[in-house]
Amino acid sequence: MSVWPRAVYVHVPFCLHHCGYCDFTVVASRDHLIPAYLECLRREIQAQMQGLPQPWPVDTIFVGGGTPTHLNPEQLQELLSTIGSAFALSATGEYSVEANPEGLDESRLEVLQRFGVNRLSLGVQSFNAQQLLTLERTHKPSDAVDVIHRAQPYIPNLSVDLIFGVPGQSEVDWEQSLQTATELPLQHISTYGLTYEQGTPFFRRETTGQLRRIPDEVERQMYLTAIRRLQADGLHHYEVSNFARPGFECRHNMVYWNADEYFAFGPGAARYLHGVRSTNARSVVRWLRAWKDGVPCLEESEENSPQDKAREAIMLGLRLRSGFQISAFETRFQVSLRDLAGPALDRSLRGGLVEDVQGTLRLTEEGLLLADTVVSDFLVGDDD
Ligand code: SF4
Repeated sequence: MSVWPRAVYVHVPFCLHHCGYCDFTVVASRDHLIPAYLECLRREIQAQMQGLPQPWPVDTIFVGGGTPTHLNPEQLQELLSTIGSAFALSATGEYSVEANPEGLDESRLEVLQRFGVNRLSLGVQSFNAQQLLTLERTHKPSDAVDVIHRAQPYIPNLSVDLIFGVPGQSEVDWEQSLQTATELPLQHISTYGLTYEQGTPFFRRETTGQLRRIPDEVERQMYLTAIRRLQADGLHHYEVSNFARPGFECRHNMVYWNADEYFAFGPGAARYLHGVRSTNARSVVRWLRAWKDGVPCLEESEENSPQDKAREAIMLGLRLRSGFQISAFETRFQVSLRDLAGPALDRSLRGGLVEDVQGTLRLTEEGLLLADTVVSDFLVGDDD
């Protein structure tokens, strides 16, 4: 009997402005597409959930973007009502919505609360005015502080994203942003180093010398500062980029890191269903055209080999600071870790990048600083 997921992701692609570093599926100044998007989303959910009892019980719902709260209160209500008709959140479930400080007014907060949203993830990125300008964000530091205080009575479980390694950012600037964050009523903080993804304006500006990348060593120091500073404030470092107060780890993202399956809807949304990973068309217009005709529109779809699924689970599991239990992994994937990835394992153990602590494999402090390199070594087989 096939098992269906208990986690849902919904992608809302609309934003006020397309920030120069962002390579998510996003459209700005295309708000006239929102009504068609809402209708097509309803069709996609109905098509994918056909044959299953509805509302289907789930433990986590994550509405991301884009900026879901860019929708006006009526549109937001329609979105959450579509999701609520198809999925029923368990009594202890987590319902997250991403939001940006601008436009998150009382009427939107009231809609979110009324539909059971119990976790808000805010795209704050920095509490420094100059760095917000560099990142092309449309809010000011005071807007972010203000919105956190206004949102808290509606949705007490608040998370913010912060970016380090912004051109022109000093280590003192970064410490100050962290300091401000720790003085606010937050349960969760995600910190990311700025990346220059191919195809983005930031990538072009960096290659042509208009934007100067922060030296690797400074960025490394900023990451270490975040770990030290946030842990000192009682936030538990539970994943490479994520920190939470005890009990406030993001349960939806844990589904990804545990290599469990999930539904996904909306342009560019990636799902994992019955062993198959598939991604919807990233072009919002192509996704809309397809669903107007009631036809799915995938960018890619692939069922990995059992070995690749196991390798992927290592890569994801190592991102967790607690790592993963080797025996549970071997039972789940019916393969010995050493047979699957012996050479990569030995390289990482010898280099002091991973450690086996009583049968649990995890990144060391040194491995954490090279996390992307270490985990990708496990992803590629040595005979590939
Ligand atoms: S607000 Fe967020 S999702 Fe929208 S363009 Fe900027 S970084 Fe991307």
